[in-house]
Amino acid sequence: MTAPLLPLAVVVDLDDTLYPQADYLAGAAAAVGAAATGLGVDGAGVHAALVRELAAGSDAGGTIDRALLAAGVPARDLPALVPPLVAAFTRHEPDTLTPYPGVPEALAALAAAAPLGCLTDGNPVIQAAKVAATGLGPLLGEVLVTDTLGGRAARKPHPAGLLALADRLGVPADRVLVIGDRPGKDVAVAAAVGARAVRIRQGEYAHAPDEPRAEAVVDSFPAAAALALEMLGSAVPA
Ligand SMILES: [Mg+2]
Repeated sequence: MTAPLLPLAVVVDLDDTLYPQADYLAGAAAAVGAAATGLGVDGAGVHAALVRELAAGSDAGGTIDRALLAAGVPARDLPALVPPLVAAFTRHEPDTLTPYPGVPEALAALAAAAPLGCLTDGNPVIQAAKVAATGLGPLLGEVLVTDTLGGRAARKPHPAGLLALADRLGVPADRVLVIGDRPGKDVAVAAAVGARAVRIRQGEYAHAPDEPRAEAVVDSFPAAAALALEMLGSAVPA
């Protein structure tokens, strides 16, 4: 098997790669709790139950339904409560999400060296609010939210997002280096198009197994960016 070609562009993930997603989830859960209080429900109880549900896995659907039931809300009340509480979650716009240490500097170095983009899964409104709150938007170049290509079915590791983003960056998809925290999404989407990936062990999936295997595994975004810069430096322009 031949090694993948050296990268000509870099694509970074957002959540748990550039900032701790737990900070966003904590704010969104608090917003849902406040909205529940406004609807005449035990908001503190709903908030606490939602925090527990999100800690058990932020990716699953139905977290608000389960949190309401766990907080003792009768099932018959869910149809009236879930839509406004989902809306409260979706509308939550944090003022600030603090990036992991060294992220702005590392992104600036990457952007100076090669085309740079961000590939992220999720509700497009929420993902845009997160980018805005991190203040990293101007450094990120192209931001592509996979859901805009076909809803949840287009989320990583589906290759559609990475193929579209590579096209926008003007490089073949197999010449992109993906940097992200989730093997099953970020490393897998790179593998799906024959590209390289660097995994950062941080956030909710820090302890997930290395499956599929990344080109390298590091402990911080600046460390991943340093590796990327090395690879870009030795890449021969196409
Ligand atoms: Mg992530």
